Amino acid sequence: MSKRQLCNQCGRALAACFCHTISAINNQLSLVILQHPSEVKHARGTAKIVELSLTNCDILVGEDFSQDEKFNALFESPEKLLLLYPSDDAVSPSQFSANLTQETSKSLQDYKIIVIDGSWKKAYKIFCLNPLLATIASIGIDANFESNYRIRKSSRQDSLSTLEACHSLLTQVEGQYFDGLLASFDYMVEFQLKSMPVDVQARYQ
Ligand SMILES: [Zn+2]
Repeated sequence: MSKRQLCNQCGRALAACFCHTISAINNQLSLVILQHPSEVKHARGTAKIVELSLTNCDILVGEDFSQDEKFNALFESPEKLLLLYPSDDAVSPSQFSANLTQETSKSLQDYKIIVIDGSWKKAYKIFCLNPLLATIASIGIDANFESNYRIRKSSRQDSLSTLEACHSLLTQVEGQYFDGLLASFDYMVEFQLKSMPVDVQARYQ
């Protein structure tokens, strides 16, 4: 039996490869995505699109990052980190931008945003297993931002895919440069809808 051929860039089966839709975007505010291991091969995961599209984006795969060198290096300058998380005291993207305008000694490039990828449950698990994440300030995203993600049903109304959350945050902070992310995302969603049996498709319309 021959093994199913995978794209060595996006990791998808060749038929599902979305690499031709990727446009490189030079983001100033860097992202570090913490990805649960069970998400790596997830056909509906969106973190890979974000990583391949953005010039300044890293993915760290794991659950407990206490032994991860790259993760621990981030926390050598915790004042430059923000966790993308909808906590009650999260700063809004517009507030973050306003603060930055006032502090002329700092620029967008000084900051890193940590994003937890995965279902709400797995993201929460990563948050709990890595107490350092609770020690840094958090940044939220505009609650009015609407999800187009029809594929992954979520138990939370306000839950966005990782890609949508990153798109929303970067657009609000840097401007309208990130719609290429949505184009790849839409391609992936449409591809998956087309691959479903007709009766299953109907549930997502
Ligand atoms: Zn590919």
